[in-house]
Amino acid sequence: MIWNQPKECMSAEDKRRMQGERLRKLVERVYHSVPFYRRKMQEMDVMPRDIRSIDDIVRLPFTTKQDMRDNYPYDLFAVPMSEIVRLHASSGTTGKPTVVGYTRYDLSVWSEMTARCLSAFGADRNDIVSVGYGYGLFTGGLGLHYGVEHLGGTVIPMSSGNTAKHIQLMHDFGATALACTPSYALYLADALRDCGMPRDEFRLKIGIFGAEPWTENMRREIEAKLGIDAYNIYGLSEVMGPGVSYECECKNGSHIGDDHFYPEIVSPDTLEPLPYGEQGELVFTTLTKEGIPLLRYRTKDLCSLDDTPCECGRTAVRMSRIVGRSDDMLIIRGVNLFPSQIESVILEMEEFEPHYLLVVDRVNNLDTLEVQVEVRDGFYSDEINRMMELRKKIAARLQSVLGLAADIRLVEPGTIARSEGKAKRVIDKRTLN
Ligand code: ADP
Ligand code: ZN
Repeated sequence: MIWNQPKECMSAEDKRRMQGERLRKLVERVYHSVPFYRRKMQEMDVMPRDIRSIDDIVRLPFTTKQDMRDNYPYDLFAVPMSEIVRLHASSGTTGKPTVVGYTRYDLSVWSEMTARCLSAFGADRNDIVSVGYGYGLFTGGLGLHYGVEHLGGTVIPMSSGNTAKHIQLMHDFGATALACTPSYALYLADALRDCGMPRDEFRLKIGIFGAEPWTENMRREIEAKLGIDAYNIYGLSEVMGPGVSYECECKNGSHIGDDHFYPEIVSPDTLEPLPYGEQGELVFTTLTKEGIPLLRYRTKDLCSLDDTPCECGRTAVRMSRIVGRSDDMLIIRGVNLFPSQIESVILEMEEFEPHYLLVVDRVNNLDTLEVQVEVRDGFYSDEINRMMELRKKIAARLQSVLGLAADIRLVEPGTIARSEGKAKRVIDKRTLN
């Protein structure tokens, strides 16, 4: 079902006119209410009156995650705090998270967008959706939550963790849809198989999977193991949260809510716009956002765009699956993390050399992170107890900075391979195929 026919199936011409109009108003707004954008535009010698149609977007400045950190917490907000009704935050490299604020209107757009997704996945008011994304600062849980309510379905706010209880409640409450990360879905599938309750006592039929990259092979595996129809949902907190794009029944790319989020693909090196079909970095301009509107936000996600007609009838531009990142961000069990975060912890502690290696793997469908780090001469010891203490100390520190448990392997000084060029800090053994 198409949730919002007039918006999702708008003619290309009407869409462009609407996008142009919205962009004009947006630029006017940020120019007058966000000093950061005013300064940037003045530096580039662009005035709001120069923006007349959506094609003029290329004259506007880019925004990066670093800009958001530099303006922590509220300096990119375009409305007074009295207008902000919700905050979310995502992890950052320096320990400072990226903060986003939503007005009532922003939250209504978000619910609308996630309702569009759910509807495209075949859900309606008769569905009971178990939301297994984390609730809290992470946008996954609450984002889907309000979408289900807006759709008129029933939401089970499970949040993440506690697999046994999750399975029991999906069984008892008759959940028909499951929202979580695709890797967790695979983990859950095995647990469900072994739980002792037969599959035909479950009513599950739809999977709502995103927050991390996955592949067609993973889809096939999840669909076969869980006996459901699995759909991709994409989003990022800076732009809104889950629901920025979503698959339709054709499962041939994800439709972007481009009446609210204008997508561009640029070369990550030159930042020149690339034509549809070419692969590059995805950039979004939030055409209607009030709380923290962003001009040309660089997602660092690599993909391509497609504006050819889709058989479902939606005209919204589609994006391909994310094929990689133009930075070194890792997504481990749905948590974003940069090697530099681990580095800063190691550098802070006198017991360690600044040499480390991160080994990422996937065991039983769950991501694992091993941190190998060199103990400094004088701190290295043959006494097991002392090494255990040291391990505990760094593990606790990393856990508090990353929000994620890592296995620590302490190694002797000089054992991690040194490289002449760029140090190899990460071995990612997860083969997504
Ligand atoms: P967090 O709140 O966990 O810090 P963010 O909202 O910042 O997370 O994470 C957004 C990022 O997650 C995206 O930029 C993208 O890299 C990744 N992501 C989200 N959904 C998908 C998806 N369906 N496929 C691939 N990557 C995804
Ligand atoms: Zn479609």
